[in-house]
Amino acid sequence: MSTDNHYDVIIIGSGAGGGTLAYHLAPSGKRILLLERGGYLPREKDNWDAKAVFVESKYRAKETWYDKDGKAFLPGIQYYVGGNTKVYGAALLRFREQDFGQVRHHGGISPAWPLSYVDFEPYYTKAEQLYHVHGQRGVDPTEGPASAPYRYPPVSHAQRIQELFDDFKRLGHHPFPLPLGILLDEAEGKALHTSACVRCAAFDGFPCLVNGKADAQVICVDPALEHSNVELLTGAYVERLETNGSGREVTKVIVTRNGDEEQYSADIIVVSCGAVNSAALLLRSANEKHPGGLANSSDVVGRHYMRHNCSAFMAVSKDPNPTVFQKTLALNDFYFRSDDWDYPLGEIQMLGKSDGEMLKGEAPGWAVWKPEFALDYLAEHSIDFWLQSEDLPHPDNRVTINQNGQIVLSIHETNLEGHQRLTAKLKGMLGGIGLHDQLMHRSLYLGKDIPIGGTAHQAGTVRFGRGPKTSALDVNCKAHDLDNLYVVDASFFVSIAAVNPSLTIIANALRVGDHLLERLGL
Ligand SMILES: Cc1cc2nc3c(=O)[nH]c(=O)nc-3n(C[C@H](O)[C@H](O)[C@H](O)COP(=O)(O)OP(=O)(O)OC[C@H]3O[C@@H](n4cnc5c(N)ncnc54)[C@H](O)[C@@H]3O)c2cc1C
Ligand code: SF4
Repeated sequence: MSTDNHYDVIIIGSGAGGGTLAYHLAPSGKRILLLERGGYLPREKDNWDAKAVFVESKYRAKETWYDKDGKAFLPGIQYYVGGNTKVYGAALLRFREQDFGQVRHHGGISPAWPLSYVDFEPYYTKAEQLYHVHGQRGVDPTEGPASAPYRYPPVSHAQRIQELFDDFKRLGHHPFPLPLGILLDEAEGKALHTSACVRCAAFDGFPCLVNGKADAQVICVDPALEHSNVELLTGAYVERLETNGSGREVTKVIVTRNGDEEQYSADIIVVSCGAVNSAALLLRSANEKHPGGLANSSDVVGRHYMRHNCSAFMAVSKDPNPTVFQKTLALNDFYFRSDDWDYPLGEIQMLGKSDGEMLKGEAPGWAVWKPEFALDYLAEHSIDFWLQSEDLPHPDNRVTINQNGQIVLSIHETNLEGHQRLTAKLKGMLGGIGLHDQLMHRSLYLGKDIPIGGTAHQAGTVRFGRGPKTSALDVNCKAHDLDNLYVVDASFFVSIAAVNPSLTIIANALRVGDHLLERLGL
């Protein structure tokens, strides 16, 4: 292999984990190669077109995965520079302090992490500052201590959402501004001329046409590439990793690019392909020394897949809801328990606003409930919620590779009772918060193949831990079985809590980045 193809660090995948790590390592001057299977997400009018994005799934990967019975499904996954953050809702929340410990759920145990909230706290603060998180401390009673206030003020509520906020308060609840990673500079609910974000209706699930969303490409990859020591190869699909004879070191990264095979090497290899693809890459890289897959002497690689028990709902407001930017409120009052249930239920958040095109795709469900409600009426009156509860890491919920090299995802749903109770809680409040008393599923937001196709929050397949028998990675996210292999994306999660995963992925990338800088002697 030519010395040109040898780097100090190779990072495979440019999403929340890999993109952030590249940014953190870039000023070191070390030679860094970022390998990304996708290209740049095209900037075009369709970025903000609900039909193109949700009905035609224009930006979704054209890839087929299989369930445990061999049935094909379309995963909700995007392959671009910036990874899935190109379309994420940028709700960037910290795990609660208790989420790092063992939590007893109705459906079983959510296991403790090998590190605590205190270990992550400084990195959460850095991650919030880097990703422009707009929020407010001290209003969500479940939040842990923070070493600094949010650098950016909370995104203001539109009038109808402020009314909802006030109604929740009147009922004795503790709504709080949803922390959002957004390049927004606003006054009186309007974007200022200096603001990248224009507070449009296309925040959640859409790519941002004007680069106003704090995604991994805009915040991390683009600035990292300003350093001449950082290179990015797009369309570079990593097929497998090869090791030396002892199996302790990755010596070759085998890439397919433009239909040809290419080989690269580095002192340090970081896999950041997202929880499913990272596990798949390690499994594909099985060799004589690693017969069950790379870094897999524990047999945990691919196992303990988690993705949240979640639902997207639409309710109908008695008053019109002309809100454009709706995703500004959340409620954690049922995060740990409720008045009539001693186990965790989960989190309620607002979702991006439904629009007519989405409703057309989902109209049959509505027609059954209230045929007299015309779609126009619904579009004008809809209010949309995202409900998220913890699913538990089960060893049989796993990623494997079939004989054709394709991804197989086996899932058995876990811990559903808490989520059903969370839904019932919201339903019970509807009358008191100015809404008609029905909740309807918004299946298009989640993808049509729910629950299996709902891979947006995938995590846990290459878990970290203290013992090489029960985890694949050590606390620095280095493989126990190898000396130069790291995994830095959502794979390392031990549990998934009931908050969105990205802030924890980003904070961890900064944490592991510090370890790598030290290892590199910097
Ligand atoms: C619609 C939607 C809404 C979401 N909303 C939120 C939200 O509001 N808040 C939140 O916290 N999270 C949200 N998420 C989840 C969030 O996007 C992910 O948790 C996060 O992006 C995961 O980061 P990652 O680094 O693990 O993987 P990714 O961001 O997926 O990055 C993995 C990268 O690796 C590349 N790759 C994969 N395989 C290979 C290979 N073999 N070779 C080379 N490259 C490869 C991929 O193309 C990709 O760029 C949302 C996701 C979706 C889809
Ligand atoms: S709300 Fe802001 S960040 Fe979101 S798509 Fe619109 S302009 Fe972009």
